[in-house]
Amino acid sequence: MFENLSSKITTAMRTLKGKGRITDVNVASTVKEIRKALMDADVNYKVAKEITDRIKDEAMGQQILIAVDPGQMLVKIVHEELVKLMGSSVQAINLKPDPAVVLIAGLQGSGKTTFSGKLAQYLKKSGRNVLLVACDIYRPAAIDQLKVLGEQVGVDVYAEPENKNAIEIAQNAMAYGRKMGKRVIIVDTAGRLAVDEAMMNEIAAVKDAIKPSEILFVVDSMTGQDAVNTAKTFNDRLNFDGVVLTKLDGDARGGAALSIRHIVDKPIKFISTGEKMDALDQFYPDRMASRILG
Ligand code: GDP
Repeated sequence: MFENLSSKITTAMRTLKGKGRITDVNVASTVKEIRKALMDADVNYKVAKEITDRIKDEAMGQQILIAVDPGQMLVKIVHEELVKLMGSSVQAINLKPDPAVVLIAGLQGSGKTTFSGKLAQYLKKSGRNVLLVACDIYRPAAIDQLKVLGEQVGVDVYAEPENKNAIEIAQNAMAYGRKMGKRVIIVDTAGRLAVDEAMMNEIAAVKDAIKPSEILFVVDSMTGQDAVNTAKTFNDRLNFDGVVLTKLDGDARGGAALSIRHIVDKPIKFISTGEKMDALDQFYPDRMASRILG
């Protein structure tokens, strides 16, 4: 991913490279090209405008017109602004109190169940006793999928295949987890193909019942602008703590990674880059910006 965006931004900035003297017209047209590259990558229009306005102001403020190497200066400015846009620092998940409860939310197919397995493995590797909870009451296959993943990563899975009450399952799972001395309880919830009221009510009720320490919203980065809209809807309702961007190994254009933080004001905490259980990384805004600038 980011190949297109990366090559367009690099091309836009090439016109300034090696130039001893540039004019404000040169800067304006380069910034305009960067804005276009961002929008082509599915970055939200407002976000693209705001960041490029800032890049321009910053460039002028730093007197790019009389810089020895204006191209180099602009690369640095764009890098800094991309990092700021994506949230600057790495954000860890909150694992207090004990047991910590992590609620996983998102649309069906976004990669929730896969991520739940990955997170379980990630936390287990750091020495924590983890419980996975299957709270998707609509898709029996989801329970089996979580059980398979649990077995694969060596983590217990709590499920009640006959129970159709997600709140009850979640509450029972909390009691079970406490009894078994679990330190982290990861609750995988049901998702629909589109946001609907019944789904939102259900997950909000689960949230109220188990009071999670951390709510992670999982979203497929390939869905571009839709990813951002869905994030907004979930955040308005759940006030989640962080975002997990999945399928970054695909040919996503990058818009979701660049816009989500700005639109919902919540950090991206993890990125998922494949179907295997170890294809999970913490999100580093700095590394992502470097990837974008090639
Ligand atoms: P859920 O409905 O939200 O629980 O989604 P799943 O976890 O079942 O994932 C839906 C599909 O996407 C499955 O085929 C997963 O293997 C796949 N998937 C999940 N995360 C990733 C990822 O980061 N990269 C790729 N390529 N596929 C993924």
